[in-house]
Amino acid sequence: MNETTVAKTKSVVREAIQALRPQLIDLSLRIHGHPETQFQEVLAAQWLCEAAEAGGFGVQKPVGGLETAFRATYKGKGDGPTVAFLAEYDALPKLGHGCGHNLIAGASLGAALGMQQVMGTLAGTLQLIGTPGEEGGGGKVILAQAGVFDGVDVAMMFHPSGKTILWKHALARRKLFIEFHGKSAHAASAPEKGINALDATLLTFQSINGLRQHMDSSARIHGIITHGGDAPNIVPDYSASLFYVRALDDDYCDELLERVKNCARAAALATGSRVELEMQGAYKSLRTNMPLAQAFKANLESLGWQFDDVDPTKSLGSTDMADVSHLTAAIHPYLSIGPSDLAGHSTEYVAAAASERGQQAMIAAAKALAMTALDVLLRPALFAEITTYRSA
Ligand SMILES: [Zn+2]
Repeated sequence: MNETTVAKTKSVVREAIQALRPQLIDLSLRIHGHPETQFQEVLAAQWLCEAAEAGGFGVQKPVGGLETAFRATYKGKGDGPTVAFLAEYDALPKLGHGCGHNLIAGASLGAALGMQQVMGTLAGTLQLIGTPGEEGGGGKVILAQAGVFDGVDVAMMFHPSGKTILWKHALARRKLFIEFHGKSAHAASAPEKGINALDATLLTFQSINGLRQHMDSSARIHGIITHGGDAPNIVPDYSASLFYVRALDDDYCDELLERVKNCARAAALATGSRVELEMQGAYKSLRTNMPLAQAFKANLESLGWQFDDVDPTKSLGSTDMADVSHLTAAIHPYLSIGPSDLAGHSTEYVAAAASERGQQAMIAAAKALAMTALDVLLRPALFAEITTYRSA
């Protein structure tokens, strides 16, 4: 397909999304006004499915064993790449939409509905995948394991932020629950009969603190004590803590996790208590598909946006999008919805997620995502580059 046709098709899609602007803003505000936490996103999922169905998409719900997950599909005129836009829509407990997932939902729906206008002339398949429970639930990990992303060639979403960032790393993350079982006794009159489970937890924290000097500077280990005893005059017979272990590299993250487990095992040995280690989930490290990211960059810049110059190895969190990025070509760019120092999971962020600037970002993201999807469907050379790309 020649460049004029590509440009023309992009402009049709951009105009279609511009026409959807009021509907997308209304949806993002409705989700914002009815915050639903992980796996409880009944209304958000329903509204998105209704909008996709009205746009001619075939909707499957639930998918992957998650009640509030869905997949909306629209087939083009023949066989070609399958491009998926991913929609998040969960809120944070108490805070509400402090991560702007309502804008992610609006942008991915907008991209899907805008693309639908031209799919009749294109070879390929479009999907809008509803991925609940990003905030700690690892919804995409569950969907990935259930095979929901099988057959998807390209998966894309945007995330709101203070800065506009084409790509940055996301840390691999392991969640470890540690329990110690000791023996209760009167803490004053018969302490020699007790086994102190709290001491084991405290020793675990100390050993981990000793580890920090000798680990890669990108790694993070952070934990809380979830149970420390019942009364000062009883030797605690039970204690528990929850740790996140994170690192840039998946293998290194597992290595570090094993060392954290050894800290707990050593504490059990030292105190004579019994330790139980339970893995409560893992996120992989994020792999950005660079040829796909470059296409997104050109498209967002064509809308007058500029990217901030950001060190992709600094100020990192983790995301369940990472697990998708190990299965298919993926991007997870950020668009600014407020001041550059906007803190995630804050009341200021909640306000930004319902602001005019947030809505501008959502519409721009919808257009740039859709135009990038068009690049994938219309440029076979780019698609070949994307599918053969292997991230470092
Ligand atoms: Zn988020």
